[in-house]
Parts: sequence; structure tokens; C-alpha cells
Amino acid sequence: MNNFEHLYIHWPFCRSKCFYCDFLSFCNLDNLSQEYNDILCSQVKSFNNLNKIKTIFIGGGTPSIWPINLLEKFIIELKNNFDFSELKEFTIEANPADITQDKLACWKNLGINRLSMGIQVLDDNALSKVGRNQTVAQAINAINLAQNYFDNISVDLILGLPGVDDNIWENTLKIIASWPLKHVSVYLLTLYKKTKLFDLIKKNELFLLNDDMISDIYEKTVNFLELNNFMQYEISNFAKVGFESAHNMAYWDRKAYLGLGLGASSFDGTTRYINEKNLNNYLKIENSLLDFAQKENLTEQQVLLERLMLALRTKKGGDLHSMLYFLSDEKKQDFLKELNELKNLGLIFVDGGNFYLTKKGFLLENEIVLKLI
Ligand code: SF4
Repeated sequence: MNNFEHLYIHWPFCRSKCFYCDFLSFCNLDNLSQEYNDILCSQVKSFNNLNKIKTIFIGGGTPSIWPINLLEKFIIELKNNFDFSELKEFTIEANPADITQDKLACWKNLGINRLSMGIQVLDDNALSKVGRNQTVAQAINAINLAQNYFDNISVDLILGLPGVDDNIWENTLKIIASWPLKHVSVYLLTLYKKTKLFDLIKKNELFLLNDDMISDIYEKTVNFLELNNFMQYEISNFAKVGFESAHNMAYWDRKAYLGLGLGASSFDGTTRYINEKNLNNYLKIENSLLDFAQKENLTEQQVLLERLMLALRTKKGGDLHSMLYFLSDEKKQDFLKELNELKNLGLIFVDGGNFYLTKKGFLLENEIVLKLI
């Protein structure tokens, strides 16, 4: 792995577990922060190849609880071992409850230039129903403080949380549209087995909106955000012109990236690597950056599927000629036939050499990909 220009770093610790979360994250293990940080630092040191890095994304977990002295040590290590001269975007994910002036100032001094704030929805009752450890007042305060330090602020929202009706959602959108944001991500709630939310839904203690309601709210959300100059550039992502996330675009364009930290994945253009996912095992690792726990060499069919899925997630869509180039003659005919049917159903646009999903098509992306391949 030496051809990457993009770095992902995983901080796996959280203050509490949100009921819908199936990410690799742990609560009440702050005592392991130092040890975890030491491993991250030693992995960075062992790399020492001075790759030119264009984007960095620190995600989690909750990176906004990464103790500042440790984060500082880690970023110094990054700067010593990678070339930051072409660094364009350096994002940290943050929970509004963790935001303080001191933290914002430190992050800025360390070179972070983009904040991604997990807002989810602006309603205390709905947040507490899903165990989300933050309040509306904290979100407003966090944005007020953050705008003094960062020009590039993004917020994450979750569409479809239990107890969030049209009014609450519209109100959330109106408030965030009044904030000084450059980017908004709107994720559809996914219900995962083995989460507390799954149990609560099963016991009829909480209820989800049906698919028609979700699709109606999604469409209204896209329209509202576009009216407020947040242009949709991917199924879940909206940005003011020039503020599309360069890091995410690298994933969707299948560029090589290195993932550091528990369970993080890396990609070199042909092979995907996954780091150790067990925290105890991970903490025993010594200088073994290339000793990935799993490696997956993608078959031609997997590459094709991945290209199609990633291309269709984005507004610019896929290039028809390069897609056809990878298909056998027989599959080419099937592909073009399906494409035409989807076009007639209003789910896909074909425009010159490109094909891309309509707003209606975005919600059916998985089904459409399966139909095409
Ligand atoms: S803060 Fe994020 S990673 Fe942590 S439990 Fe909540 S959703 Fe999961």
C-alpha cells in the first residue's frame, strides 16, 4: 500500500451508545485512549513513506472526545511521516455536546479545516428516544462557536428517526438552512439487528415511518436543500458550490486510500484491506501496518458492481462507454435493455455518454444496480 493520497483515521470511543448504532465503537473505555493512540502513532511511524496526502478524515466513534494532548501527538506524527504540502481537506467528526472554544482553537491550530457535526435532528425528545447524547441547545451553541474558527462546516442529519414527524423535520431543515454551513449529509435511518433500536421496534415501543412516507420526506428534503443552494451531488450529500467533500469523492471515484485504526479499511485500486476489528487484539499489535486482518482481491465482476454502485450514488453518474467496455457482448445487450426500461420508468436519465439516477431513482439505488448487472 503506497499509492494513496487519502487517509481515514478511526477513533472508536464514544460517551454512550446510540440505540441505532452498529458502528465499531465502545463506551466507557476512555482508559484505553493512551494505549490506542500509541498504536496509531507507531503505525504512522513505521510507514514513513512521505506520501503526498490530499484529504484526511477523522471519524468514529466520537473523535471529538479524542484527548487534545493525544490528538496533538498523533497529528505531529502524521506530519512527520506524510507530506501535507498538497493537503486540501482535513475533516474531524464532532458531537455538538463536546464542542468548546479551546477544542476548536486546538483543532484549527493542528491544521484541521473542516468540521462534520452530528446533528441528526433538532428535537430533544426524538434525540433522547434513540439514546443520542446531545441537545438542541448544545447543537446551536456548537455551531455558534464553530463558525468563529471554521469556514467549512458540514452537518449530518438522520431521516426517519422514530417520533420525527413532518413538522419536526421541516423545522430542523429551516434551522440548519439559517446556519453558516457549506455541506449537509442526510442519511436514511437503517435498522440493524443487534441494536437497541431494533429491539424497541420489535417490542412496539418505538415506531418507524413507512417507505412511502420516507420517500416523500426525502424528496421534499432534496427540494428544500436545493432551494437553499445545497446542491445534491450524491444520494445523501448536498453542498454549496465548491464544497463537495473531496474525501468522499475519492471513495466514490475508487481512488486508493489508507485506513488507520480499529476496523478501518484501505484500498489500493485492486485489493481491499481491513484492519483488526477486535479491540483487545488491536491493542496488542506492534508496528504492523501492513499486517491487515483481512484482504480481499476483487474479482472483475465485483469491480464492475462496485463501479456501478459508486457511480450511481453520485449526481454525475456513470460513463456509459466505459461501463460497456467492461461488459461481455451478451451482457452489453441486457444492460442496454434494462437501462432503457429504467429510463422509461423515470428512474434513470441517459444524457449523451452518461447515465445517472433521477431523484426517484436515488431511493431505489440498490434494486436498480441489481437490475442492471
Ligand atoms: S456517537 Fe456515533 S459511533 Fe458513537 S454510538 Fe453514536 S452513532 Fe455510534
